[in-house]
Amino acid sequence: MLKPYLSHMHAAIEAASAGKTPFGAAIAMGDELFVTAANNTTSLHDPTAHAEVMAIRKMGSQIQKTDLSGFTLYTTCEPCPMCASAVVWSGIGTVYYGCTIPQISTRMDQITLRSDELNRYSFRNVDWIGGVLVQDCLKLLNRYS
Ligand SMILES: [Zn+2]
Repeated sequence: MLKPYLSHMHAAIEAASAGKTPFGAAIAMGDELFVTAANNTTSLHDPTAHAEVMAIRKMGSQIQKTDLSGFTLYTTCEPCPMCASAVVWSGIGTVYYGCTIPQISTRMDQITLRSDELNRYSFRNVDWIGGVLVQDCLKLLNRYS
């Protein structure tokens, strides 16, 4: 039996693979997985449709709330500043991610503000925990970038 965070990270990786992008996200509470999402910028013609934003939108819609405190986000790549800010606004307190922004930025354009730096400017602190299943997440990045 996998630890909950690993199985949820696998769900994020599967979402990314299914969407044929390196970017997948999942939202869970404890053992229970609620939603997964992939980056949809191309299919939706929406530059804000990153996997993390899509997962937060799905989760809010599912529970009919904007406050996602108590939930945890899992994402294949460290959230960009837009997604990291969406996490703060949502109230999600913990984010597990695979690849780091420095790793992503060697393969594609990135805004290089690290997610944990956002805590310095935010009204709410988030625990940003990187390097989870990083080899699997790097494989995704290498396959699709
Ligand atoms: Zn993003």
